[in-house]
Amino acid sequence: MPAIADLSVEELDQQLESIRQEYEAFRARGLKLDMTRGKPAADQLDLAAGMLALPGNRDHFTEAGEDARNYGGLQGLPEARALFQTLMGAPADRIVIGDNSSLALMHDTLVWALLKGVPGSVRPWSREASPAFICPVPGYDRHFAICEEFGIRMLPVPLTGEGPDMDQVEALARDPAVKGMWCVPKYSNPSGEVYSDATVERLARMQTAAPDFRLFWDNAYAVHHLTEERRAIPNILDLCAAAGHPDRAFVFASTSKITLAGAGLALFAGSDANVRWYLARAGKRTIGPDKLSQIRHVRFLRDDAGLQRHMDGHRRLLVPKFDAVADALEARLGGTGAARWTKPEGGYFITVDGMDGTARRVVELAKAAGMALTPAGATSPHGQDPHDRTLRLAPTFPSLDEVKTASEGIALCILLAGLEKRRAEIG
Ligand code: PMP
Repeated sequence: MPAIADLSVEELDQQLESIRQEYEAFRARGLKLDMTRGKPAADQLDLAAGMLALPGNRDHFTEAGEDARNYGGLQGLPEARALFQTLMGAPADRIVIGDNSSLALMHDTLVWALLKGVPGSVRPWSREASPAFICPVPGYDRHFAICEEFGIRMLPVPLTGEGPDMDQVEALARDPAVKGMWCVPKYSNPSGEVYSDATVERLARMQTAAPDFRLFWDNAYAVHHLTEERRAIPNILDLCAAAGHPDRAFVFASTSKITLAGAGLALFAGSDANVRWYLARAGKRTIGPDKLSQIRHVRFLRDDAGLQRHMDGHRRLLVPKFDAVADALEARLGGTGAARWTKPEGGYFITVDGMDGTARRVVELAKAAGMALTPAGATSPHGQDPHDRTLRLAPTFPSLDEVKTASEGIALCILLAGLEKRRAEIG
C-alpha cells in the first residue's frame, strides 16, 4: 500500500473498507495469543535443564570447603562472584549475589536510600523535599512502578538511539532534588538500543547537584545478543571512578534470562563503599542467600566462555522469532508511514511507534481479535504516553507459529488504526 498520507479520500475509504474486512476475518479466527511479557519460552529454559540435577547428591561443599546448605555467606560464594566478573565489570570482591531477582535488589537499594541514605548522603532521600529520578523513555514499566510506589517524581527524557538525550539529562542533574536515574544501557527494554561510548562517558562525568546521585545501571540484557556481533559498552564503574565519582553507579544484573527465570541469581556491583553499604543493610534483611543455587550455576556455566556459549543457544532460538515480527511488520506496514519499529541487536523486545494518537486503539483492536499486548503507555512513567504511539512487542514466549500469526494480526491492527486516524483527520 502507498503512504497513507498520499491517499485521496476515495482511496482512503477503499483501503479502510478492505483492511476492515481483513481485520474482521482475522478476528473471526477466535485466536488467543499473548505478546505482553518478556518471559523466556520453555525451550529456552530447557537449555538449562541440566541444572535441575545440580548440585548432585552430596555435592554441596564450596571451594572453601563450607557446607552450602547452611546459613551464611551474605556476599555470595567467591567462586560464583568470580564467574560473573566479566558480566558485571567488577572484581569478585565488589560483587554481591542475592537470591533470584535483580528487581528485588533494585527495590531494596531504593528503599534503603530513602530510609537511610547512601554513601555521600547528607540525609535519607525521603527527607529531601521531593526526590526525583531521571527516566529514559520508553523504559521498563517495573522501574517506573518502584518510583510510583514510593512517591519518587519521574522526569522523562527521550532516548535517541544512542541512549538518553544527554543535554536534557545534564540539565536535569543540576537540580539537587534529582537523586538518580534508571539506565538499561545495553539492548534496552524496550527500544533495544545500546548506549554509545559518548553517552556512557557523559553519564560518568556529568556534574550532579546531589552529592549522592546514583545511576541505577540495570544491565539486565548484558549478554543477550541477537547477532553474532556481541556489542560491548564501556565499563561504567571504571569510568565513574576515573571521573572522580567512584560511588555513582549501582550495577545490577541477573541470570533470570540466562539460566532459569524464576530460579537464577541476582547480582549487584559497585564501589567498595557502595558494597559495604549494601552488605550492612542486607545483613539486617537476611542471614544469607541460596548458595546451592550459586553452586549449581558454577557447576553448570563454569566460566565466562561457558556463559557466552549458553547464550548462543538462546540466540539460535530467538532470532527466528524476532525475524518473524520484522517480516510481518515490513510486509504489511513498509512504506505506509503507519509505523516505525526497532530492529534490535539484542534483548527481549521490539518497540513499534504507530501514528500519534493510535496506540490505545491498536491495543483495543488487538484485544478484540484475541491478542494481548502490553497496555499502551506502559513504557512511560505513570503509564502516560504523551503521544499515544508506543507499543512494546515481546516475541520470546509464544511459539514461532504464534509469533508469526500474532505479528500479522498486530500489523493489521496498526494499519487499521492509522487509516482510521487519517480518515478522522481529513474529515
Ligand atoms: N530489568 C529489566 C530491564 C528487565 O527487563 C527485567 C525483566 N523483564 C528485569 C530487570 C527483571 O529481572 P529479574 O528477573 O532479575 O528480577
